[in-house]
Amino acid sequence: MVEGYMSTETIAVYPGSFDPVTRGHLEIIERARDLFDVLHVAVVANPSKECLFSSEERLDLLRTETAALGGRGRLEFTAFEGLTVQLADKLGARWIVRGLRSGADLASELPMALTNRDCAEGELDTVFLPAGPASSYISSSLVREIAAAGGRLDTLVTGGVEEALRKKSPS
Ligand code: ADP
Repeated sequence: MVEGYMSTETIAVYPGSFDPVTRGHLEIIERARDLFDVLHVAVVANPSKECLFSSEERLDLLRTETAALGGRGRLEFTAFEGLTVQLADKLGARWIVRGLRSGADLASELPMALTNRDCAEGELDTVFLPAGPASSYISSSLVREIAAAGGRLDTLVTGGVEEALRKKSPS
């Protein structure tokens, strides 16, 4: 963050792999942008994790598929490598947004939330949003599996994402 500069805007970051963005992610984005003035959707470019879509492709899908979403706050998009605390600091974000689908999500998210808060000396908190009932079973890995097998995807992802998946694994 620029030294001495204090934004009056509430700024949050929603980090994830988004490989690819699902209807579950879109619901979280739509709800989270109502809570903050600016929501940075951040694609994690993890070199050790093999992804189906490149960071650029994941960002493009996020940009196009969020274009028609409702909600109040401004959406920004970025790709990053490294720690979420470093990204949040760079963006001036005080909150991390994460979606919770289950107790298993909570169990893995809680230590991360506490560690991030610690690393940022209390200046960074995590806001958890529960998945909606219609999307609590959706995950990007399930979507990739179904796409590879040529299964039905319309309840899991938007049309644009379905098309991108079909191009990756034509069946
Ligand atoms: P990561 O590899 O960081 O978990 P994901 O793209 O799988 O990246 O998920 C990013 C965030 O979105 C996580 O907080 C995850 O719990 C949340 N999320 C994923 N799928 C859903 C869903 N169907 N409903 C609500 N939240 C979700």
